[in-house]
Amino acid sequence: MTIPTSVAVDSQGRPLTDLRISVTDRCNFRCTYCMPKGVFGRDFKFLASAALLTFEEIERLARIFIAHGVEKIRLTGGEPLLRRGLDRLVARLAAIDGLTDLTLTTNGSLLDKQARALRDAGLRRITVSLDSLDDAVFRAMNDVDFPVARVLAGIEAASAAGFERIKINCVVKRGVNESSIVELARRFRGTGHVVRFIEYMDVGSTNGWRLDDVVPASEILELLEAEFGVRPIAPVKRSDVASRYEFADGSGEFGVIASVTQPFCRDCSRARLSSEGLLYTCLFATVGQDLRAPLREGKSDAEIASLLRGIWHVRADRYSELRTADTVKLPKVEMSHIGG
Ligand code: SF4
Repeated sequence: MTIPTSVAVDSQGRPLTDLRISVTDRCNFRCTYCMPKGVFGRDFKFLASAALLTFEEIERLARIFIAHGVEKIRLTGGEPLLRRGLDRLVARLAAIDGLTDLTLTTNGSLLDKQARALRDAGLRRITVSLDSLDDAVFRAMNDVDFPVARVLAGIEAASAAGFERIKINCVVKRGVNESSIVELARRFRGTGHVVRFIEYMDVGSTNGWRLDDVVPASEILELLEAEFGVRPIAPVKRSDVASRYEFADGSGEFGVIASVTQPFCRDCSRARLSSEGLLYTCLFATVGQDLRAPLREGKSDAEIASLLRGIWHVRADRYSELRTADTVKLPKVEMSHIGG
């Protein structure tokens, strides 16, 4: 059955071009800004495997999204490398016509074992979260005492497997890892890999977010300017979340993702699918629309496509532009549930 193709555009004129697919709500880290141990402890009820979308279901939905304009798919979690046989899903998605970019975000803890298989399956790019090179700071931030050396080994393995321009994501929290900003920039400068410094966000409703804990992009840039000399460079795509900069000596580039102080909702073209098939139209959404039920009730691709068009057509999300002290308290979906 062919799926009618038309680019879905929302109420703000934003086309649907990027889909983030969470393949699990589980993670082996407990990063304090995302999955605090106090909430996601031993008794936390994660999704049962029967509740998760199967690889067949993910592929079917991906085809429908691609027919509606999606060009880029990012696999996320929780920690996506915890999902067994992930390379088989990658192979399925990589084979879909019309998908020009297939990438994944990981905490890097299992990358040394899986990088080659993911690459061979067709994964094009990879992003690794790495909040510090200081082992004590890193262990404190992941809160499971995981050594930074293992993640660095994972990045090496990904590089050896053929991944270039690996993105390195660092969430900066005041009083926790500001000292890591210059360190990370120095470590990856000249390697071709790109560090992106991310302003700490009020994702979900469990990380105890306070504006005082945010290190604004302007301060991050001041630090890097003072140390290296930097200059802005043009974005690759309007919908890219990171502002790009290069080191004055031409030794590479880095990015800053400033969702709090320089929101980028006007060009936001991202949809997020949770591992149990809920479609969220914003990282800070409070509810998702169920796409698993129509799949499992035997609805046709055309019927699901019409549902998707209906959801996206009325989309008006601009959370970061409208953030207030009250919106911060909303019962937003957890980032660990839909990926960043
Ligand atoms: S806050 Fe929502 S609408 Fe704005 S950029 Fe983020 S995901 Fe997009």
